[in-house]
Amino acid sequence: MNIIFLGPPGIGKGTHAEIVSKKHGIPRISTGEILREEIKKRTDLGKEAKTYMDTGGLVPDELVIDIFRERIGREDCRKGFILDGFPRTVTQAEELERITHIDFVLNLVAPHRVIIERITGRLTCRKCGAIYHAKNIRPKSEGVCDTCGGELYQREDQKEEAVEKRLELYEKRTKPLIEYYQRKGILKDVNVEGGKGEVSERIGREINDFIKSMGI
Ligand code: ADP
Ligand code: ZN
Repeated sequence: MNIIFLGPPGIGKGTHAEIVSKKHGIPRISTGEILREEIKKRTDLGKEAKTYMDTGGLVPDELVIDIFRERIGREDCRKGFILDGFPRTVTQAEELERITHIDFVLNLVAPHRVIIERITGRLTCRKCGAIYHAKNIRPKSEGVCDTCGGELYQREDQKEEAVEKRLELYEKRTKPLIEYYQRKGILKDVNVEGGKGEVSERIGREINDFIKSMGI
């Protein structure tokens, strides 16, 4: 099953895509994560992407499409995948359609204030990329990752100014994808207000319904 998790920055796409990925044994592909890895490794690609990412801008379509094409061609994607943060523009969605086929799009929705609160409180592990929240998903010991002991930090693009820019860009560039996939009849909304466990169950039900409808 080839699934897209759609939604504004900060809504929890990564967290929930990861849960579904583990449960169903198919990889989660996050272009944001791949780009951050490139930055860490100081590759040319990483250096170029960083200039856009730090200020909350979008990395040019050609760059992310190339990254995506390479990733999707790997062996572990043969049984399916979950896309998190890609596509983010109509151009990317059109290109995606030429590369592979999408079965289902889950559109995560929540009120604006919930999104702002989630995103500005978010903490990321420097070592393994795990995500925490200053209020909602606190690590056992402050500033330290539960799983790997790495240091937790606030990403440059999660500070308030960058967040506003990212939300603006979402409205302008990414939101049109909702209609794009609605027209294809493969989009389903899911409300993600509430605690992580309850939201995760809601999402799990949507995924199960979809699997049943596919008859697999
Ligand atoms: P989040 O999940 O917090 O919204 P991501 O980790 O998906 O953020 O992405 C972080 C940054 O990486 C984005 O703000 C953007 O600059 C860049 N990026 C990731 N995916 C894409 C994409 N598909 N197109 C353009 N830029 C992207
Ligand atoms: Zn960690």
